[in-house]
Amino acid sequence: MLGDMKPFKMVGNLYFVGTYRASSHLIDTGDGLILIDSGYAETADVIVESVTELGFDIKDVKYILHSHGHSDHTDGTPRLLELTKAETFLGEGDVKYISGWAPNHFYQDGQVITLGNTNILCIATPGHTEGTFSFFFNVEENGQTYRAGMFGGAGTNQLKKPYLNRRKCSWLNRGLYFKSVERLKKEHVDVFVGNHTWNNKTKGKYETMLDSVENPFINDAEWVPFLEKCEKDAESVILNESRELFVNYAHRGASHYAPENTFLSFYLGIYMGANGIETDVQMTKDGVLVLFHDKTIDRMTGQEGSVSDYTLEELQQFTFEKNGLTDKIVVFEEFLKQFSFRDITFAIEIKQPGTEKDIADMLRKYGMHNKTIVTSFSLECIQIFKEYAPEYRVGFLTREVNEQTLEFLKEIKADELCPFATIVTTENVEKWHREGFNVRAWGVYSEELMRNVYDSMADGMTVNFPDKLVEYIK
Ligand SMILES: [Zn+2]
Repeated sequence: MLGDMKPFKMVGNLYFVGTYRASSHLIDTGDGLILIDSGYAETADVIVESVTELGFDIKDVKYILHSHGHSDHTDGTPRLLELTKAETFLGEGDVKYISGWAPNHFYQDGQVITLGNTNILCIATPGHTEGTFSFFFNVEENGQTYRAGMFGGAGTNQLKKPYLNRRKCSWLNRGLYFKSVERLKKEHVDVFVGNHTWNNKTKGKYETMLDSVENPFINDAEWVPFLEKCEKDAESVILNESRELFVNYAHRGASHYAPENTFLSFYLGIYMGANGIETDVQMTKDGVLVLFHDKTIDRMTGQEGSVSDYTLEELQQFTFEKNGLTDKIVVFEEFLKQFSFRDITFAIEIKQPGTEKDIADMLRKYGMHNKTIVTSFSLECIQIFKEYAPEYRVGFLTREVNEQTLEFLKEIKADELCPFATIVTTENVEKWHREGFNVRAWGVYSEELMRNVYDSMADGMTVNFPDKLVEYIK
């Protein structure tokens, strides 16, 4: 197989041995070779030929470092392991992405990998993947020492929600990405090494180098601007999606017009153009999950007690009324039967502690994980739910947001923050987005507030009058 890039010496003992689509780099340490990234399976032999063409022996590769687990950086490894006795390194969080081999070592954050004259500092820079690592090491040329640096996962397409959903990744990876970029900016880099050729313009520099005495790879003014561009790209992904994927949740259905949490109200919401439904789940005395908001039933029925004091049959005797429209209580499973197949987003609020697992089982029965966010005002409820059903995304409903809460939410991998609408400002949304959260407002009690929330670049809101939001978004 022929490579589409010639192998060449970049700076000192650092060589390019990859392809245009997936960079691989070779370091000659004087006591064996280190290979960074193995490319695709079908181009593994390009690496072998490149190493040979440069006058080295593939058998001398002692370490293979992988910047992250995606196939374009790791799939060549099984073939290379047939030809070498190299030890392999990967970030632990990326084991799920690889196949056909198992790493000998997981990097530790801040670890230095030493071979011969080379010390490679490995720092954890998750975001692009959970286990992305970046590398820093010195190279020498003409008696000068330069610091080489590689951002192990710069691409931002992998921060898009459809991609994260497909790969079963947390949306919080976005926040990790921003943090990693911040951290990388503090590193000094004279030689910017890309793990894709378009990151550091490998091809153009190689061509320049052919008829230039200066080495274009030595340039300490490239690293930070590149990271700033990465940051901007990530911001654009989030802002674009906040518009393109904005969720207008009919709050308990179109509850401004019809009795809340009834089929009438849900269908009206969809009819008005809502692309999401928000509802509340509680359990009856006889263990049936139903949709009901309040702690007590008096506002809706004029009777005493709460949902859990009544059997389903008893609750079905009540008629809910609004604006002359009437309907009955809805069983959660009936709701899922009628709505689960629709291409809309669901916000399911847990109202009673202790019902987390029943709700999860019911959602699982209808395969709702890619279109549902399970929320609660109780951190404990969402924590229990998430532990039991990690494939579901959870959100925290709150009136106030503080650092402690945000840290806790990250710990339990809650992807969504649901603040009260009045604190959903442009400034706050920007901050919460940077932390990695999806931002969805609740408590949108007026049209003015609705407009403010939408304009803040939040990702969604629950609203009793979804028709007005549809109109505004237009
Ligand atoms: Zn990747």
